[in-house]
Amino acid sequence: MDRLRHIPKLDLILKDERFQDLIGKYGEKLVKLCTREGLDSMRAAIIAGGEGDNINIDLDTICFFTQKSIEEKSRSSLVKVINATGVVIHTNLGRSILSEKAAKAASHAASNYVALEFDMESGERGHRDESAASLIRELTGAEDAAIVNNNAAAVLLVLAAISKGRDAVVSRGELVEIGGSFRIPDVMELSGAKLIEVGTTNRTRLSDYEKAISDNTGLLLKVHTSNYRIVGFHGETGINDLAMLSGKSGIPLYVDLGSGSLMETRDFSDEHEDTVQEVLGAGADIVSFSGDKLLGGPQAGIIAGRRDLVDKVRNHPLMRALRPDKMTLAALESTLKTWLLEDGAGIPVRDMLTRDKALIRVDCDTLSTSLNRMGFEASVREVTSASGGGTLPTAGIASYGVHVRARAGSGLSAEDLKTLLRLGEDPVITRVTRDEVVLDLRTVREWELGTIEAKFSLIAKGWWKDA
Ligand SMILES: *Cc1c(COP(=O)(O)O)cnc(C)c1O
Repeated sequence: MDRLRHIPKLDLILKDERFQDLIGKYGEKLVKLCTREGLDSMRAAIIAGGEGDNINIDLDTICFFTQKSIEEKSRSSLVKVINATGVVIHTNLGRSILSEKAAKAASHAASNYVALEFDMESGERGHRDESAASLIRELTGAEDAAIVNNNAAAVLLVLAAISKGRDAVVSRGELVEIGGSFRIPDVMELSGAKLIEVGTTNRTRLSDYEKAISDNTGLLLKVHTSNYRIVGFHGETGINDLAMLSGKSGIPLYVDLGSGSLMETRDFSDEHEDTVQEVLGAGADIVSFSGDKLLGGPQAGIIAGRRDLVDKVRNHPLMRALRPDKMTLAALESTLKTWLLEDGAGIPVRDMLTRDKALIRVDCDTLSTSLNRMGFEASVREVTSASGGGTLPTAGIASYGVHVRARAGSGLSAEDLKTLLRLGEDPVITRVTRDEVVLDLRTVREWELGTIEAKFSLIAKGWWKDA
């Protein structure tokens, strides 16, 4: 530990020419902060021993640690990546990409005062989600709508506003975990609604719901089993039957749709997903869905349905804690307008899901040719894209991908190649199947192809060897 005493004082270090250069480049505050951090990591490495015993306590080494710390600090943590996984709504990569129009609308709202809660005609206070709500009404036929931060918030709020202290009846087959520890039963408990489970995991009949209804029932709840499907001996009670029961008993029917599609998913996959308008048309009293799944907009939760129920939701005290900000509302309004006026054309999620695989093949051929020229073993094959984000879990979307292996004798495995594509500048996210890196180009934009080629070219030259 004696060696620790040889580490020079911060003031002295900063006077050194190398550090003065850094200060000229990055400013004194950042360099001071990072030098301090650099010294800390150096101390920690020395105390830890092992490799740390070999650390030279000199200004070169301190400068190295400082520079590393500066680089980490200057980089945005939200690094842009190229998504070559073919998973369109990739939750770990930020789910939906906004359309150009929606991104512009969000940016405009971000840097200006906007009439957020201000009725321009009367000059009086208005609802912040009025414009989005009116578009939802037109798109889905709902009487009214309210917007919150995400669909998890929507589920919490609907249950709290409509069923607090009362029973909410739900099928055992729908007590789902969406991921990130979002479990329907936990949210229900938080909302103050009492969960009444009916039926079994694989089968729930209308009579199961009927038997569970009492004077204290506040809600019939149906949850879209987004990320899994029960196959085999299975039966669930459909929206039509539940709507009938709801009509007879006067108990509202709430459907948590998860992704909430506005488009016919059979146009690009072999599965039909009930659209929001279909579910409302079939008699659901209130529904909720995400803004950034199949809708292709910003993260948001959309609650739509009967006016009296939406009013209850909007006037609930939790609304204030869950309301979206102006950038979200601007992006959502723009996205909804595109659905209404242009059938969603220009919304990346919709465009990628419906992209003709013959066009994907053309891009694959281009990329494959240039990778072969660089010495990789590349070939174009049929692959299956996924919509992702817990939507259409079993529906494959036919696509084309480039399968790549490093040149024989290069010593690079497919996993190595995948790692190298992810590291350094312009990360490219891929997957490995059967010892080959696969790039599904459904989720890669035309202008990103050149970047991918450049990345492979660097790998061919062995950039990581001198990094
Ligand atoms: C995705 C999903 C949620 C959560 O929605 P977020 O917008 O991610 O908060 C809730 N319920 C279902 C059925 C879902 O699929």
